[in-house]
Amino acid sequence: MRPLEEIVGIGPRTISILKKLGIRRTEQLITYYPFRYTILNKTDMNQAQDGDKVMVDGTIEGIPRLYHINRKLDKMNFQLNTGSLLLNIVIFNRGFLKNRLLLGTVISVIGKYDRKHNQIVASELRFASLPDHVELEPVYHTTYGITEKQIGTFIQTALKDLEVQDWIPDSLCEHYQFLSKYESICEVHHPISLERVKEARKRIKYEELFLFMLKMSSLKHNKIMKLGLSHQIDWQKVEQFIKRIPFPLTEDQQKSVKEIYEDLVDEKRMNRLLQGDVGSGKTIVAIISIYMNYLSGYQSALMAPTEILATQHYGTLKHMLEPYGIEVACLTGKMKVKEKREINAGLAIGSISVVVGTHALISESVLYQNLGLVITDEQHRFGVNQRANLKNKGMMPDILYMSATPIPRTYALTLYGDMDISNIKTRPKGRKEIITYLKKETEIREVLELMYQQLKEGHQVYVIAPLIEESDKIDLTNVYELETKMKLAFGKLFQIGVLHGKLSNVEKEEIMDQFQKNEIQILISTTVIEVGVDVANATMMVVFDSYRFGLSALHQLRGRVGRNDLQSYFVMISSREAERLHILEKTNDGFKVSEEDFLLRGSGDLFGIKQSGDMVFQMADLKRDFEILLKAKEDSEAFLPHLEEEKYVKLRAFMERSSDLD
Ligand code: ADP
Ligand code: MG
Repeated sequence: MRPLEEIVGIGPRTISILKKLGIRRTEQLITYYPFRYTILNKTDMNQAQDGDKVMVDGTIEGIPRLYHINRKLDKMNFQLNTGSLLLNIVIFNRGFLKNRLLLGTVISVIGKYDRKHNQIVASELRFASLPDHVELEPVYHTTYGITEKQIGTFIQTALKDLEVQDWIPDSLCEHYQFLSKYESICEVHHPISLERVKEARKRIKYEELFLFMLKMSSLKHNKIMKLGLSHQIDWQKVEQFIKRIPFPLTEDQQKSVKEIYEDLVDEKRMNRLLQGDVGSGKTIVAIISIYMNYLSGYQSALMAPTEILATQHYGTLKHMLEPYGIEVACLTGKMKVKEKREINAGLAIGSISVVVGTHALISESVLYQNLGLVITDEQHRFGVNQRANLKNKGMMPDILYMSATPIPRTYALTLYGDMDISNIKTRPKGRKEIITYLKKETEIREVLELMYQQLKEGHQVYVIAPLIEESDKIDLTNVYELETKMKLAFGKLFQIGVLHGKLSNVEKEEIMDQFQKNEIQILISTTVIEVGVDVANATMMVVFDSYRFGLSALHQLRGRVGRNDLQSYFVMISSREAERLHILEKTNDGFKVSEEDFLLRGSGDLFGIKQSGDMVFQMADLKRDFEILLKAKEDSEAFLPHLEEEKYVKLRAFMERSSDLD
């Protein structure tokens, strides 16, 4: 395909604007699909009811009158002659158009019909008449400096004499009677009819999902071909280890340990997901698994999505495992070269048995003497494709994923292939439901009082600042703003600490450490503590501007409290109406929360697919298009053996290119 620069009308300025939309190459431009369509269809005003959305065209009668209501609001009135009717048009904040609205100008108006006043309150004016037939107009997401029209025009230019590669094998294309890919893309950007757009969209989604499932099937296939390790484990020693844990395991924890034991002993490669709501106690199961793996003479690696969590796990693992003479180390991306080198050496000669860290553990060039078990905590934060990553390094350890985000079984099976699942459904005994409130900013007094109560009793409190992106400079001040406020309220009585992603690792560790030791009572933080952090004495969390977070993220945050038998509180503060947040008041059940989130936001973030860039779909949506996904799964599995054939050499190359994204 031609590079973007060669498309007529695209210069350096446009290139940089397109970049903001994620468009760097021509492929990305032509697959920058509209997110909806405006249906242009002249309304028959004789049929129109009061309150209907209407579309009319005509000529301007008289001179528009403009009123400035205040600095931010103006209102314009004029009359439109449709040929058969004279309508009053009202439009807000388009005063700047007045000079173009001359007597006799042909325009069209889209808006809401107010029958009583023979009036349309317009939301949009266009300087052209409406088409005679129904027409679909694509609507694109735009950004500052570029209009929808311009995007449309660039796409049309790019599509001229373009060759587009069809990836769906011919036999399937014929079977489904799909349009060609080129036709489909053209149709989506410049629709002929609603019917055809639907067909075109189906074709595009199918291809995206087919390629995705083909990749998953081939991963799965590869895995089955190879055997894993067969561990020899002295179960009596495991039982002794479990006895010395300061609390009895719950039934589900015991069951999970047993299932993992069976997997480790079996020579088939373990590929297991340990699923359990926040606070259900997955970490101890991981530790026992690591101990079992150690008993059989292998090294273990535990990966966490954040440095804070990795550091915390390191502390816990050291505490639990060192009494058994097991050497535990911590390895993170930002460590000093010298430290890293020492740990790498220890891993290579086998003097270190257990290593905890971030994804640096497998993505960098770490060599192990005999890696037998990899555990990823908070799996939903990673991509689905680490297995491929390990495979590429020639390592075949058993794998345990842990996740608090419940994945409906059908989806899990579809996405992860033949993964086994262990569930921890019940939380440890004695845990109370976390009491959850949704409050307005005006009710802050009550919140501060509840905070004071908790602090007075010797407990600790998290205060979360409204940060979506940690890199967002404007928002950073919010953390400090809150610090100032909290200092005013509690500064004399309690210690306050601030934590966010821009602090250095040493600073972060120090603050977490102080909070852990109760040297800090109020921890103001961004969502860097969202996952995994475990400080049992913290009994309350307050989240400001909570409307900015997804339900699942809030549930994760809530999981930071309620970690022992004390009554805990979770308070969401939101000045905006956010109906969906009430679900958290009603339930502590992560499964219900995530189902709700799933319905509201689609599947994207549920599996960590979007974040990881594993396979980002331009059009398909795993939830809405589940039917197509199932077809694509079936078809891709049947097709897989043919992939080796000569005629699919291009497809093979394409698959390989798209599988080393991370
Ligand atoms: P998560 O599943 O969210 O990762 P953790 O593993 O962090 O949960 O466990 C939450 C807390 O519960 C930890 O402080 C842990 O020590 C404690 N815990 C785990 N299992 C039990 C149990 N069976 N009885 C009592 N406390 C437990
Ligand atoms: Mg955890």
